[in-house]
Amino acid sequence: KRIVNFSAGPATLPFEVLQQVQAELLDWQGCGMSVMEMSHRDKEFMSIAQAAEADLREVAGIQANYKVLFMQGGATGQFSFIPMNLLRGKQGIDFVLTGDWGKKAAKEAARYAKVNVAASSETDKFANVPARASWKLDPGAAYVHITSNETIHGVEFAADPDTGAVPLVADMSSNILSRPFDVSKYGLIYAGAQKNIGPSGVTIVIVRDDLIGQAAANTPGIFDYKQMADNESMLNTPPCFAWYVSGLVFKWIKDNGGLKGVGERNAAKAALLYDYIDSQDFYRNPVAKADRSRMNVPFTLANPELDAEFLKGAKAAELSGLKGHRSVGGMRASLYNAMTLEGVRQLVDYMKEFARIRA
Ligand code: PLP
Repeated sequence: KRIVNFSAGPATLPFEVLQQVQAELLDWQGCGMSVMEMSHRDKEFMSIAQAAEADLREVAGIQANYKVLFMQGGATGQFSFIPMNLLRGKQGIDFVLTGDWGKKAAKEAARYAKVNVAASSETDKFANVPARASWKLDPGAAYVHITSNETIHGVEFAADPDTGAVPLVADMSSNILSRPFDVSKYGLIYAGAQKNIGPSGVTIVIVRDDLIGQAAANTPGIFDYKQMADNESMLNTPPCFAWYVSGLVFKWIKDNGGLKGVGERNAAKAALLYDYIDSQDFYRNPVAKADRSRMNVPFTLANPELDAEFLKGAKAAELSGLKGHRSVGGMRASLYNAMTLEGVRQLVDYMKEFARIRA
């Protein structure tokens, strides 16, 4: 039995990938052991690791002057130690805040640097992305940090912003590989794998060559991008199994139309849900239309007293993971790459029926 899983993360994986994992679980390609049991130094795992990187480079169009790292510690680890790596003798970091994850990243960065909030939509309850023209960027900043998709508030940058000579750093945890994007606009991209890529435990980092190698002297080796890159992400034991499954997902994306195909399907899924929400008054999404996330769709019921009943009925209909984040309440449907259009149809049908009975 498989439920339809709208969880914000760890999230549903492509069924074909899970089937392949199952088929290879005990004996990976005739080597007589599971990927979980292999030494990361053996040629079998090295081939898995290298293929994953090559496929990710191909899928995302990552140029040769970028390093691709498979790290641990999640996105939280990344936003905690990016400043150690990227301050490079500068004093300040610019943040554009569009939700709680950006705020958390800014709070961690404030341990090391002067944080300048160049723009924020907090006074609008994070219901939009501040217009690029309104950002008050500091030309001397070490970098500009954005969260390309705010998972809790359901706010997404519609395009890759331009920050000129100051490197752009993006937390893409909840929308990486969900549509074509221009890596060359970014100095560094990071993402926990557990939404659009694979199992939790591996964190993807894509970083431009010229930004590494200048970490603060007290940066621990495993948090230092240069040391990680020099050791092919194997300075210590890497998250082998999560890395392997991520590699299968990169292949799955290649086999399913690349980022263009994935992006078109994600746009269709999100349109189905938003169009229904906008067509009636029982459910509501507060985000400015141009800035709505195609990955995470928060919505409220006209009468919050019906929330528990809505969730109970959803569970009975085998629709899971719809409870909104505890900080904002209501509901949230996450529509990452592995969610099917049919799954979203089932959700919309259930919402229609619930509204018909309870409105
Ligand atoms: N950033 C964003 C946008 C997220 O959605 C999340 C988790 O949901 C995080 C960071 C934290 O990720 P991790 O749990 O990998 O540290």
